[in-house]
Amino acid sequence: MALKGLDIFKLTPKTNCKECGNPTCMAFAMKVAQGSVPIEKCPHLSAEALATLSEATAPPMKSIKIGAGEAEHTLGGETVLYRHDKTFVSRNLFAVSVCASCFDEKLPEIEKIDYERIGEREYVELINCVYNGDKAAYVELVKKAAATGRTLVLECQCPDAARAALEVCAAGKPVLNGATPENYEEMSKLATEFGVVLGVTAGDIDALYDTVAAIEKLGNKNLVVDVGVGSVKDAFATAVQVRRAALKDQDRTFGYPSIVNVGKLAAGDENMQTALASLFTMKYGSIVVMENMSYAQALALYGLRQNIYTDPQKPMKVEPGIYPLNGGDENSVCVTTVDFALTYFVVSGELERSGVPMNLLISDAGGYSVLTAWAAGKLSAGSIEKFFKQFDIEGKIKNRTLVIPGKVAVLKGEIEERLPGWKIVVAPNEAVGLVKFFKELNA
Ligand code: SF4
Repeated sequence: MALKGLDIFKLTPKTNCKECGNPTCMAFAMKVAQGSVPIEKCPHLSAEALATLSEATAPPMKSIKIGAGEAEHTLGGETVLYRHDKTFVSRNLFAVSVCASCFDEKLPEIEKIDYERIGEREYVELINCVYNGDKAAYVELVKKAAATGRTLVLECQCPDAARAALEVCAAGKPVLNGATPENYEEMSKLATEFGVVLGVTAGDIDALYDTVAAIEKLGNKNLVVDVGVGSVKDAFATAVQVRRAALKDQDRTFGYPSIVNVGKLAAGDENMQTALASLFTMKYGSIVVMENMSYAQALALYGLRQNIYTDPQKPMKVEPGIYPLNGGDENSVCVTTVDFALTYFVVSGELERSGVPMNLLISDAGGYSVLTAWAAGKLSAGSIEKFFKQFDIEGKIKNRTLVIPGKVAVLKGEIEERLPGWKIVVAPNEAVGLVKFFKELNA
C-alpha cells in the first residue's frame, strides 16, 4: 500500500541538507508521498530505506515495454482513472488478428492504414497471431508476421507451439498471450527464458487475480492482463475493476496494462467491434485486438485515441513552417493561418479541395484558433513579419501574394506596411468559402 508522508519522513536521514532541492526532509517526504518527486532524489538514504521506499512509492501501474527498435512501444504507467484528472500516459495500441489461412488476405488491408495526423504516425501497430492447433503452420505464420516489422502478440496457450514461435520471433519482443490457471508455470518460464511479456487470462476476475498473483510469486512481473473474457458486459466490468483495483486501491497485483480482444467479443460484427474498440480505447484496454481494421474504422478509432491520449493542458499544434499544397512551389500564392491543429486540418482540407497550388504558411500562434490568437497577441502583423524572416519566405517564394484569414482582416493595412511589395488579400471568414474564393483568385 502507498506510504504516507510521515512514514517516508521516518526513513530519511533528517539532516535537512537540501541536496534534494527541498528545504527540509519533511518537505521532501511529502512530495514523494504525492508522487511529484522520485525517492532517488535524496542521495543519503540507506540501501535498506531505499529498497523499502522504492517498492512502496513505485507507481501503482507498471510501465511495460513491448517490441524492439523502431517498433518498441510502452504500455501502462497510468496514474489516474479519468483523463480530466491528469494526462493518460501510454496510448492504447491496436492489433489485428491473423491466422495461418488468412494472413495473406489480411496483410494488404493492414498495410493500407498508414498515415500521419497531427504529427503522429497512425497504423496498425500490432499483429495478433492466432494459434489454431497446427504448430508448423503457426511458426510459418509468425515468421511472415514478424517480417512486417510490427510487434507481435502470440495468442497461443500451447507451450510447445509457443516455444517454437518464440524461437523465430523473440528478438522482436512480442507479447506471449497464453498463460492460464492451468499452464501458467510453463508459460511464465517460457516468457522469462525468451525475455518477453506474458499475457495472463482466466475464466473470471477472481481466477485472473489468483493467476497473476501466482505468476508474480514465480518472480515474473512482466505481464499484461487479458480482460476480454466472457460477455461484453463481463469484459468491460473486468477492465474497469482491474484498473480501479490498481489505481484506487493501490493493489499492485492488478497493476499491469490490459489486453482485450473485441474480435472475440463480437465475432463477425464489424460495427459492434468498432463500437467496442472505442469503448475499450476509453476504458481501459492497453491493447485492443480486432478481427479486421478497415481504413474507415481506423479514421474513427485513431482520431478518438488521439483525442483521449493527448495532454488536455497542451494545445494540439502543428509545426510552424511552409506546407506546399496541390503541388505548390515558389511561384504559388501564399496563405497563412495559425498552428491550432483543428484550424490547420479544416483549412488545409478546404485548400486541397480547391485544387489551386499554394503555400500554406503556419506561424507559431501558441496553438490557439485565429480569433483567440489575435486576441492574445499571438497572431499579429508583427508575428507574421517575424515568421517571414525566420523562415526566409522572401528568399524561398517568388510569388508576392499573401492571403490572410478573414477573421483578422483588420491586420491587412499593418501587414502591408511591414511586408512592402506584398499584395495582401483577405480570405472569407469561414473555411467553407475557401474553395470558391481560391478558384476565383486563380481565374
Ligand atoms: S537530500 Fe535527503 S537528507 Fe537532504 S534534505 Fe533532502 S531528504 Fe533530507
